Amino acid sequence: MNVQPIKFYPQSKALNMRQGLYDSFGRKLNYLRISVTDRCNMRCDYCRPSADAYQAEPRSHILSFEEIARIVNVAASLGVNKVRITGGEPLVRKDLPDLVAQLSAIDGITDLAMTSNATYLAKHATALKGAGLNRINISLDTLNPLRFKKLTGSEIEPVLDGIQAAQAAGFFPIKLNTVLMKGINNDEVVALMDFASAMGATIRFIELMPMKQGLDWDKHYISVEDVLAQDDVQARVDISPMQTGNTVARYLPLKHGKGEVGFIMPMSDRFCEGCNRLRLTADGGLRSCLPEDKHMNLRDVIRRGGCDDDIRAVFMRSALIKPEIGTYVFDADADKRSMIHIGG
Ligand code: SAM
Repeated sequence: MNVQPIKFYPQSKALNMRQGLYDSFGRKLNYLRISVTDRCNMRCDYCRPSADAYQAEPRSHILSFEEIARIVNVAASLGVNKVRITGGEPLVRKDLPDLVAQLSAIDGITDLAMTSNATYLAKHATALKGAGLNRINISLDTLNPLRFKKLTGSEIEPVLDGIQAAQAAGFFPIKLNTVLMKGINNDEVVALMDFASAMGATIRFIELMPMKQGLDWDKHYISVEDVLAQDDVQARVDISPMQTGNTVARYLPLKHGKGEVGFIMPMSDRFCEGCNRLRLTADGGLRSCLPEDKHMNLRDVIRRGGCDDDIRAVFMRSALIKPEIGTYVFDADADKRSMIHIGG
């Protein structure tokens, strides 16, 4: 293995007297998104390259639960208090509630969440709740079983059962995430809002990002602005309070239902200014920006015998290389990693 030695910078700008991890632009980084696997039971085109082009990492490259817990422990010592478990599909990883129990026991972690496609949630929701998981976000791009099968390669029934099981286990509020795709599901926005509203869940619609994927971004990208201009959406959503600003999701009230609906605009209204995130890939890469490929590998640091200060140093260096604004390079898409590889 040819790994550059990691230098520890005890007085680095990244860790300052304000107690926490800061990047070069003064943003406090207190949120770590952890991909626990780069495998998934689904085959969503927007998330992974076509099946033959996608190669999961060998299992030996993937961080063990103990390695993840150690990294989170160090992150917590740097002021990270919010963790989200994601993937791939986190629940294809065996014994995931054991990891949840380890992470929820770490001093300083006050918010432990997971993003899942819910296929296996009916089986694990109660154990996850008991292990200390606070919140669940569930991906749901369509309610049409045939469309769902076409889009994901999977059945919708276990997903709907999983959503119910999560509610029955006491997860509240459940957030549903829908990726907006022109010509694929933008005619279902209102149906999805009504579905979420009827079950007391919050739904958020996310603009499609141009990752390395099996879907033609140019053809299927639709902005939130264009979705809000649809007549059926205007009939259901009060768009008057929509404002721009630096929050991840904007929420608008529903006209004829309970609650509100969220919109996440990573393409048309970037929220980099308020970004507080770092990402840990399943194979140990620490990334400070989703579209930025520059990263350092914590698995290598750990497996060559690095101490906690070495891990801390990687966090601090990662904070310092976080760009002010993440840029999607549209014509170099093919060189990028896919979302399933990075962790969504
Ligand atoms: N398997 C889990 C799931 O389906 O929720 C977690 C991983 S998935 C990569 C996390 C989130 O990333 C999902 O909500 C998914 O819709 C979103 N996502 C994946 N590729 C995307 C893309 N190209 N643009 C926008 N969102 C994307």
